[in-house]
Amino acid sequence: MCGIVGYIGNKNCVPLLIEGLKRLEYRGYDSAGIGIIDEGISFIVKNKGKVSELQNRLEVLNLKANIGLGHTRWATHGIPNEINAHPHQNEEGTLFLIHNGIIENYKTIKKVLQQNGYKFQSETDTEVLAHLIDSFLRKGFDIFKATQLALQEVDGTYGLAVIYAKEPDRIIAARKGSPLIIGVGQNENFIASDVSAVLAHTKNIIYLEDGEIALITENDYQVKTIHNEEVIKEVEEISMTLDEIDKGGYPHFMLKEIMEQPESLRNSIRGRLLIDEGTAKLGGLENIIDDLLDVDRFLITACGTSWHAGLVAEYMFEQFIRVPTEVEYASEFRYRNPIINKKDAVFFISQSGETADTLAALRETKLRGGIALGVCNVVGSSIARESDSGVYIHAGPEIGVASTKAFTSQLIVLALITLLIARRKNLSIENGREIAKAISKIPDQVAEILKLNNKIEEIADEFKDAKNFLYLGRGYNFPVALEGALKLKEISYIHAEGYPAAEMKHGPIALIDENMPVVFIAPKDATYDKIISNIQEVKARGGRIIAIASEGDDEIKDMVEHVIYIPQTVAMLKPILSVVPLQLLAYHIAVKKGLNVDQPRNLAKSVTVE
Ligand code: GLU
Repeated sequence: MCGIVGYIGNKNCVPLLIEGLKRLEYRGYDSAGIGIIDEGISFIVKNKGKVSELQNRLEVLNLKANIGLGHTRWATHGIPNEINAHPHQNEEGTLFLIHNGIIENYKTIKKVLQQNGYKFQSETDTEVLAHLIDSFLRKGFDIFKATQLALQEVDGTYGLAVIYAKEPDRIIAARKGSPLIIGVGQNENFIASDVSAVLAHTKNIIYLEDGEIALITENDYQVKTIHNEEVIKEVEEISMTLDEIDKGGYPHFMLKEIMEQPESLRNSIRGRLLIDEGTAKLGGLENIIDDLLDVDRFLITACGTSWHAGLVAEYMFEQFIRVPTEVEYASEFRYRNPIINKKDAVFFISQSGETADTLAALRETKLRGGIALGVCNVVGSSIARESDSGVYIHAGPEIGVASTKAFTSQLIVLALITLLIARRKNLSIENGREIAKAISKIPDQVAEILKLNNKIEEIADEFKDAKNFLYLGRGYNFPVALEGALKLKEISYIHAEGYPAAEMKHGPIALIDENMPVVFIAPKDATYDKIISNIQEVKARGGRIIAIASEGDDEIKDMVEHVIYIPQTVAMLKPILSVVPLQLLAYHIAVKKGLNVDQPRNLAKSVTVE
């Protein structure tokens, strides 16, 4: 999920690797490292924290080499520290490996390697690859073949690169589900996870595809599949500028992150869904699952967008787990002398895992004896470390201040948690399977919705000068109304309110006139007929209506000014789909107003103050 760069050629690779890593810093990371080989001797330098620290240490060491690898890690398995940072190595320190992604079956592979005497240094999933490749080297295979054979045993995702002091004239690079490119130069070649790391040196790029593995030397490259079929690759000439490339070709991180959601959702689900058994597997909850089956009450505390995810979870937990659930702002929870018992399980949802109010609420809960469960994106963050147990959402680094992909990943992980606990209680296997199948379809369904980007941009153009907006939804989609309004407020500075649709007539209806855009989240579900009545009420008062509706709902079209269709899914997952058009609407309105969507005024990405 984070950064890879590698060099082989006639220059000193150390400054080139540092420069490449700096170009990858925008992606967010928690530690950095390089491994180089000089005349058969290998050196490794790595640290928690910034690339600049790594650079300072390297300047003192004054190392030189013609082949090396650099990595910025965004931890998924094991806290960010020097030992867990990449490169990882074999026991004799002759092989260096860097990896982006997740090795799903690392536990099984690790067990077998340990039985064969391999000793592990780190807590990462990545380290198994270094030893697994080594086990094939010991059988007499060369580094290319050994890597190929190792990768045949691996489930999961990787963009990776390997160098080996006993074959110091080659880099091996492979890709499955995590990007990797070769930068082709003159008497030098590069590898990287992202073109921006090499663009200052070459514009000639080869994109590896899933299942491909490359052998790269100073003057040549060869690409095969991991099953040893030859592949002919085209070299493409890149015309983008560095700034465009940092953002993956998108003008803003926020748009990039909205568009990344099919992928981030896939990463959140990866290895966690058991469709046949109609349940989920969440390693982080394994040690505590029996306690969770026996709790009297769930509490959910969070702030901002994460609080909205908590509200959706309240509906999920009560519908399927049938245990009373309360959701509260972390800031209120911590100061109101909350009643917490030993049989209360309290969830703390935070993208960064550092949100000050949520962290304080967690500490208060632990003091009072409740079970503390973290749902975070950043591995090794304070909330993740201090919780009794928890689940990472694995959305990848989120840079845009307005949260988008972290929200949808929070929702899908909360759905997995619901499925796991409900199946252990009284959800039938048939119902479990229906939900599990629906979860597995979500990433592709989000991809379908993203194709409506141009249409949503046109709608944004019509409404960009509005002074107020109202967002209305019922049931599972009430929290989506709150989230849609929050997104608009955060980046476009338009005043927006979210309400449960039925509450409109208890107050906000007074605001409705021909200047008031009203966004209805109205997919077909149990409350559909009721929300149609609310639409009529707004229409009768001249309000301008945008509706998010289910595919195939022709009836709604004639009642509203614009309709954006989303695919069918089970009710509990609808928020993951219905929020996507609202993210795009807020984004396009803000851009059309000429605002800085990635760093909106007065807002910080991680709110570490009260
Ligand atoms: N899963 C690996 C780790 O936790 C790679 C993380 C990354 O993609 O940076 O070390």
